Amino acid sequence: MTHSNMLLNINGIINDLDFYLKNFDFIINTPNYYFILLEEARISSAFRGVDRSQLYLGELLTLYSQDKWISTCPHCGGRVYLKSLGGSPLSGRGSGTGYCRDCRKTISGIKPFERYFGEFMGLRGEDGEVC
Ligand SMILES: [Zn+2]
Repeated sequence: MTHSNMLLNINGIINDLDFYLKNFDFIINTPNYYFILLEEARISSAFRGVDRSQLYLGELLTLYSQDKWISTCPHCGGRVYLKSLGGSPLSGRGSGTGYCRDCRKTISGIKPFERYFGEFMGLRGEDGEVC
């Protein structure tokens, strides 16, 4: 059984986030699930510490479970879960895109870039290596 080629819709995961977080321990300890790739889930940066663009299910769930990569919806005040982030940590210019599961809208232009980039880098060691 392999799920490494699965590409799940991230909006669907955010809609069912309670289910995924309930099974968080199982997912992060099961490589076939941890490494599931998600549509639209990516990070792009001019920083050498980020050497790939697509994000894994396990990474996003780790961020969400720590209240990271979450913003506030400008339409309904609900929680927006970031699914992509792009920019330069050197200039600080950049923004993220997320999805509000309350009003089911995609939200773009989410800032500040540095905060969300720092939260992502926190998944790794301080030197940028994978923990
Ligand atoms: Zn909303």
